[in-house]
Amino acid sequence: MNRGSTNVWYENWIGLGALYHIVPNDYTINEDMQEVAELRVDDTWDEQLLVQSFPTDIAQHIKQEVIFGTTENSWDVPRWMPSPSGNFSVSSAWNILRHRDHVNPDYNKIWTKDLPFKISFFLWILWKGKIPTDNLWRRSGYLVVSKCWCCSQPQEETFQHLFLTSETATRVWRNFLQAADLVINLVQVHQVIRTWWNAKCYPKLMHLYQAAPAVITWELWKRRNTMKYGGAISCNRVIHEVNKTLHYLERIRYPWLSIIPPLWSDMISFFEGYKPYVGTKSGSNAILMVHQEAILVQADMGFVFEIMLEIWCLRKNIR
Ligand SMILES: [Zn+2]
Repeated sequence: MNRGSTNVWYENWIGLGALYHIVPNDYTINEDMQEVAELRVDDTWDEQLLVQSFPTDIAQHIKQEVIFGTTENSWDVPRWMPSPSGNFSVSSAWNILRHRDHVNPDYNKIWTKDLPFKISFFLWILWKGKIPTDNLWRRSGYLVVSKCWCCSQPQEETFQHLFLTSETATRVWRNFLQAADLVINLVQVHQVIRTWWNAKCYPKLMHLYQAAPAVITWELWKRRNTMKYGGAISCNRVIHEVNKTLHYLERIRYPWLSIIPPLWSDMISFFEGYKPYVGTKSGSNAILMVHQEAILVQADMGFVFEIMLEIWCLRKNIR
């Protein structure tokens, strides 16, 4: 607010909206008064005129909250009310326009740390039911003669068939579910994925269980595409690729553990039996067992915390 040429009644110069809409319905407004400058006496408000022109609370608000600028000769400048600086920003406009949905806990599980982005992204698309299998085309109104690419005796390609009920999909899921001791009927893809996410397991296996359904469905999808364009991938190959990615995830997560077994079932046994160390106090020595590795550590304290051991392993690995 500078020279105060803003319209008194129809512009939002008090920060609460246009006064025309704010004053009570039965309040008689003085339409002869047009510019805010008319409410001003030198450098301050004409308090008497404020009280005469507006309801008491509004007059009070103007007196306390609305201030004139110091540059006497400048015109009033518009201010963008949603941002404190008064300057327009696209992000503040976007925040007003956008519809914020409730946080969906499922979406947190889709994104696994260290898992390649393309795999998590694929699971996100799958979770929303947007994978372009033949039944999706049909639902969108296209006439499709459907034939799956995953079976030697082709059947109709549906989402459930490709990712769950086909012979290959069933074998792959069973291979990983059984080793993890998870029991579930393979009826619905989302339900199987949730079983992995909600499984009770050892903490060090948790992110692996979270990633497993993403990696399995990703490899099934890759196989389908390869077969569709003339290639061939065996079921064992799919299992091997899933294994490889899960093993890679563990290596990234626990770089100081050099002996993580590459096979899924062994990986589970390994982490279920994982003990960071067994320490015994014997004079100035502490004898530590790390899995099958026995390490002698000179420790005057006679008591070694897990974190110290992990730092030691990390340094050994780097060397
Ligand atoms: Zn099939």
